[in-house]
Amino acid sequence: MDDKINGVFAAQQQNKFLLRTTDAEVRIAKLNLLKQAIKNFEEEIFAALQSDLRKCRFESAVTEVLFIYSEIDHAIKKLKGWMRPRGVSRTISNLFSGNKIYYEPKGVCLIIAPWNYPFQLLMSPLVSAIAAGNCAMLKPSELSPAVAGICSKLIAQTFDPKEIACFEGDTSIATALLKLPFDHIFFTGSTAVGKVVMEAAAKHLSSVTLELGGKSPVIIDHSADVKDAARKIAWGKLVNAGQTCIAPDYVLIAEELEKEFVTSFKASVEQLFFNQGELNLTEYAKIINQKHFDRLKGLLHLALQAGARLEWGGQTTAENLTIHPTILTAVEAENPIMAEEIFGPILPVITYKNLQEAIDFINKRDKPLALYVFSNSAENQNKIIRETSAGGSCINDVLIHISNPNLPFGGVGSSGMGSCHGIYGFKSFSHEKAVVFQSRLGLTKLIYPPYHQKMGLL
Ligand code: NAD
Repeated sequence: MDDKINGVFAAQQQNKFLLRTTDAEVRIAKLNLLKQAIKNFEEEIFAALQSDLRKCRFESAVTEVLFIYSEIDHAIKKLKGWMRPRGVSRTISNLFSGNKIYYEPKGVCLIIAPWNYPFQLLMSPLVSAIAAGNCAMLKPSELSPAVAGICSKLIAQTFDPKEIACFEGDTSIATALLKLPFDHIFFTGSTAVGKVVMEAAAKHLSSVTLELGGKSPVIIDHSADVKDAARKIAWGKLVNAGQTCIAPDYVLIAEELEKEFVTSFKASVEQLFFNQGELNLTEYAKIINQKHFDRLKGLLHLALQAGARLEWGGQTTAENLTIHPTILTAVEAENPIMAEEIFGPILPVITYKNLQEAIDFINKRDKPLALYVFSNSAENQNKIIRETSAGGSCINDVLIHISNPNLPFGGVGSSGMGSCHGIYGFKSFSHEKAVVFQSRLGLTKLIYPPYHQKMGLL
């Protein structure tokens, strides 16, 4: 496999010079080609998502396939504008010159994807890489093998490997790829592996975009509409069975609202994910594999051992890798469930007496990928946004900031660096090159030596 990887890399390194000169029409044609290929493979993609994650068709359509169509459509609509060199204002030192920023393709890029939204998270950076005029080598996750197989087939049938190629496989393939001097690496996955990727990138000074994870908190303050918050959190926490990078990880709630929240959360989950009193397995995803199922079961066990109270849920079914929606209260800050990203359908609820306590709780921990606020107090909304750090936030909702391509999507600190979607994805895969067009009237000569004759200019 190493020979194949090295061969494709060498071919892409050659080809990148040709791609560098492509105009918007050529790139738009490629984006259309990708969209058509996805349409041709749509049924197989839905079947693969069902097989890997038991994702129902509607959820797969909204969170994976349609998401990519809209990403492609947005790029097609905006590409000419994104690519246009952007003039900036002059300064005294280059008074008569033209000053522009050019968007230059990075070159040959590596895209490594995780398993939780295995189609979307492989294709979305690819859309940006194509829009920005790059070659790309893709590495889907081995933990979602059906989707990896379809993506690999789709790419092989649609693109010349000297432009875009897909390599299925486990860590050993990722490790072989990471040995190469890529012009950019776009990695989506865990914070721990993000560090491995950044270390490998440092050897070649490859630039990186790291889309990582973490514990995304929700603050519910005394002024919030608790029923509305509970319903939105129920959806955000349980879509894809909690295996979402920006899923609400835990809730910090004003003490007096805890009971109402627990009752409303249960009622909302029953309304959204149950059918005639039973968890609706046709619309509720499974845990990706036995290892993660055991990890979540173990985490729940540890949380209860450490004194958390099981308010609802907790049932686990090994045969179909299902973990029921679960809500815990009496969770102390030191509880093991607060030590790692849960990435499953277990929701710890922690109470606070005053808002500052909740803010301090978040600020003592790693910077999260998302932070959600439910509050009808403008003062509190602003206080939380200004006094905390997070990749992105929603006020009175969850997850939806990811759906607007006009907003940058990415983490900060241990939840990542750089951003994706829309122009932000285009920029991640481009180098912003400063170009000065000097005029005959250029004033630079004023600062040439001999300096002693020019001291009067200062
Ligand atoms: P992971 O880090 O285990 O794996 C991601 C990819 O890296 C896979 O393709 C895997 O094969 C590869 N990989 C694993 N170990 C490697 C190593 N040692 N060297 C090189 N490559 C390696 O992550 P995962 O379990 O697939 O995904 C879950 C994590 O991803 C969660 O933390 C989640 O929050 C995060 N995530 C983040 C985003 C985001 O947009 N920020 C989106 C989805 C998931």
